Amino acid sequence: MSISDKNENLLIKAEAGKDLTREDIIALLKLPFKYSAALYLAADRVRKQQMGDEIFLRGIIEFSNHCERNCLYCGLRKGNTNLSRYRMTEDEILATAAQIKKTGVPTVVLQSGEDSFFSQDIVCRLIERIRKETDLIITLSIGERSLNDYQAFQHAGANRYLLKHETASRELYKYLRPGCDWENRLQCLRHLKQLGFETGTGNMVGLPGQTQEILADDLLVMKLLNADMLGIGPFIAHPDTPLAGIDNDDIELTLRVLAVARLLTRNTNIPATTALATLHPQGRLLALQAGANVVMPDFTPEIYKSRYDIYPGRADVGSAVEIISRLEKDFQSIGRTLLYSPGHRPN
Ligand code: SAH
Ligand code: SF4
Repeated sequence: MSISDKNENLLIKAEAGKDLTREDIIALLKLPFKYSAALYLAADRVRKQQMGDEIFLRGIIEFSNHCERNCLYCGLRKGNTNLSRYRMTEDEILATAAQIKKTGVPTVVLQSGEDSFFSQDIVCRLIERIRKETDLIITLSIGERSLNDYQAFQHAGANRYLLKHETASRELYKYLRPGCDWENRLQCLRHLKQLGFETGTGNMVGLPGQTQEILADDLLVMKLLNADMLGIGPFIAHPDTPLAGIDNDDIELTLRVLAVARLLTRNTNIPATTALATLHPQGRLLALQAGANVVMPDFTPEIYKSRYDIYPGRADVGSAVEIISRLEKDFQSIGRTLLYSPGHRPN
């Protein structure tokens, strides 16, 4: 078989949902550039077949930029003394959740640094109030916590949890997240799955030292965990971190990982991340045509938004309502519509 037949056959096998080996995944990530469009189209067809043409919305509130961790890649790391820190009050968070509800967006994502000020009790009270006062579906993204915390959050009414594994390489993980243990992160993810959370994991693409083999392992972690949601975004260097200046302008590689994730996991919810939109003006639309089916408009109040400085230049200026109406026009241009429904992972 010629090499081009081999590549064609691999794409056909991936689109048909046949089991992909690690070697297959590596080969898909390394396909010559001329196959990129075919790869994205295959992922786009699988997205359509499995998830339909609607784009699901999740409203995000970044309620605290305090963080006790020191991840080398992140502007919220505790070693960044240039950042002005904030915590939203419970009432501010509730008012923002009410705004999300008013806009018709059915899900709120509560995200923060790892901030122990938000104890189990405080988080549970917050969840209970949001459930009672808005009835929104609640996704938490507040990092590694104990099994007991996760149980309490669920009991209080949280439905979903996002905890990206960040990288499948134990060595890279150890270097990038000083004092953290990869196994512990995986244990957290298993706990969340076992408790019945709709669980999201994911990675960053373009990290220093990352190889296609490591990216293939990332995709296998997503598959083996049977994750329900996958956050796949480019690494963007922050000037106030030890990784300052390591520029990543490779949107193509992130789109490839996203497309392969769709082919491999079939019916997962995959956002077109803000990081992709930040890296490239068309980043979000390109992702939505390469397998993605979710967008997460940022509802964090203006006074705090710019201080949630995980990476620089975050896209999306203006209020969330303005952002959604801009997105709506963009999406119509590619034959897709916004759907104001919860968007659970289909069985
Ligand atoms: N503290 C929580 C949630 C907030 S961080 C946690 O770490 O899980 C949310 C996500 O931001 C992380 O999962 C990481 O993938 C992403 N992130 C952090 N720094 C980044 C950077 N420089 N470029 C791109 N994404 C980044
Ligand atoms: Fe903190 Fe999360 Fe940033 Fe790490 S990635 S420094 S845990 S906010």
